[in-house]
Amino acid sequence: MFIDSHCHLDFPEFQSRLPEVLENMQQAKVSHALCVSVDLPDFPNVLKLAQDHANLYASVGVHPDYEETPEPSFDFLVETARQHPKIVAIGETGLDYYRMGDRSYESMEWQRERFRTHIRAAIASKKPLIIHTRSASEDTIKILKEEGAHTIGGVMHCFTESYEVAKAAMDMGFYISFSGIVTFKSAKDLQDTCKKVPLDRMLIETDSPYLAPIPFRGKTNEPAWVSKVGEFVADLKNVSIEALAMHTSNNFYQCFQIDINHS
Ligand SMILES: [Zn+2]
Ligand SMILES: [Zn+2]
Repeated sequence: MFIDSHCHLDFPEFQSRLPEVLENMQQAKVSHALCVSVDLPDFPNVLKLAQDHANLYASVGVHPDYEETPEPSFDFLVETARQHPKIVAIGETGLDYYRMGDRSYESMEWQRERFRTHIRAAIASKKPLIIHTRSASEDTIKILKEEGAHTIGGVMHCFTESYEVAKAAMDMGFYISFSGIVTFKSAKDLQDTCKKVPLDRMLIETDSPYLAPIPFRGKTNEPAWVSKVGEFVADLKNVSIEALAMHTSNNFYQCFQIDINHS
C-alpha cells in the first residue's frame, strides 16, 4: 500500500469529484493521503477533509508563494495543531525565490519571517515541518539550522534540489519526498539524487492537482497516481514495488508520528 505524503484535495479541481478520487485511491492501493494547507482562508476545508475521512490527514500553515494573504501567528499555528489530532504537520512553509523576479533580496524578508514563525510553531507544538523550497535552498537550510529544526524534523517536499541539499536536510532528521517530477525524462539529475537517498529516508507524493507523473503528465494529478511515482522509484532503486511501498509508508508514519495501530 502506498501513501501520498502531499496533496491539495481542497483545491477547486476536486470539489465535484471527491468520491471518485477516494475510490481511485482504493483501486490503486493508496491507503492514506496528507492534505496540505496553503493559506488560512482555505484551511477549514483542509481540516474538514481530514475530519470527514479516516484515511486523510491535514497540516496547518501558509505557503511562501501566498503573499497577499492573512499572516499566520505563532499562537494560531500552535493552538490549531494542538487542538486537532488529525493535524500531523506544520506547513507547507519554506522559501520560494522563483517568483522574486526583479525584486531585491531584502524585499523577500516577509517570506523568511513567515518561515521562522512556522519552524518555531512546529517545535512548540511538536509537529514536524513540511518544507517547500524553490530557488532558495541555501537560505532554506540556513534558516532551518538557525531555528534548530533538527529537534522536530519533517519532510522536504517535492524535492528537486541536489544531493548535497538532500544530505544537509537528512542530517537534520528530515525525509526527502519525491513527486511525479522524478518520472520525467528531463529529470536525470533528480533521478541520480533519488538513487542516492536511502530507502529509510524517503517519501513519495503527488502534490496533486499539479505534476502528474508519466504516463499522465499534463493531466490533473490525484493521490491514486502516487502509485506511478512509487513504481518508477522502485525500478530506479532496483527494489520490489512492495519493498518501496513498505518503506515509504513506514517512513510516513514515523515522520508524522502516526501510530498505525490506532489509525
Ligand atoms: Zn510546495
Ligand atoms: Zn503543495
